Amino acid sequence: MTENEILDIFRKHSALLEGHFVLTSGLHSDRYIQCALVLQHPATAEALCAQLASKLGNLGATVVAAPALGGVIVSYEVARALGVRSLFTERQDGVMTLRRGFTIAPGEPTLVVEDVVTTGGSTRETITAVEQAGGNVVGVGSLIDRSGGKVDLGVPRSALVTLDVKSYNPADCPLCKSGTPVVKPGSRSKR
Ligand code: ZN
Repeated sequence: MTENEILDIFRKHSALLEGHFVLTSGLHSDRYIQCALVLQHPATAEALCAQLASKLGNLGATVVAAPALGGVIVSYEVARALGVRSLFTERQDGVMTLRRGFTIAPGEPTLVVEDVVTTGGSTRETITAVEQAGGNVVGVGSLIDRSGGKVDLGVPRSALVTLDVKSYNPADCPLCKSGTPVVKPGSRSKR
C-alpha cells in the first residue's frame, strides 16, 4: 500500500479528520488522528501492521513492545507478522513500566512500536522501560509519524505514513485567528 492508499483508509474510517482541533495537550491543530478507528477492523490492522513489520523485519528483533493502550494492537499485529512475542508497558505511579510478569532477556533485540508518533515522548518512555528490563532497542516503528520525520530516537525508525502536522499554542493559532470553530475530539490517540 502507498502512503496515499493508507491515508484513504484512515479517511474512510474517520480516523484522519481535517479542520480545527484542540488536542489533549491543549495545543490546537488542523488535523486529528485516531488510529483506534482503523485498528477496530482486525483485517485492516493486520494488513497495515504486516507492512510496518516488513520495514522493520531486517533488524532481527525477537520481541515487540508498545505503550498501552494505543500501541497494544500495533505491537500484537507486528509481532504476529514477525513471528515473535508482543509485550506492552503501562504506567505505574506515572512511570512507564513492564508489568504482568513480562520479561525481556538480557540484550534481547527489541522493537518499540506505536500507533502515532507526535513528539516521541511515549516512545522514549517505552524505550527506557525496555532498557531497564535489560532489552536492547534495535528500532522503532509507528503507523503514522506526525512529526514530519523530525523526531530522533537514536535508533532506526520507520512509519507507514509521515505527515507534517502543525500544532499551535491557542494564543498563536491561525485557525483561531481566522474564526474557525474549534472541535475537541472525544479522546486523542497520542500525546
Ligand atoms: Zn486554534
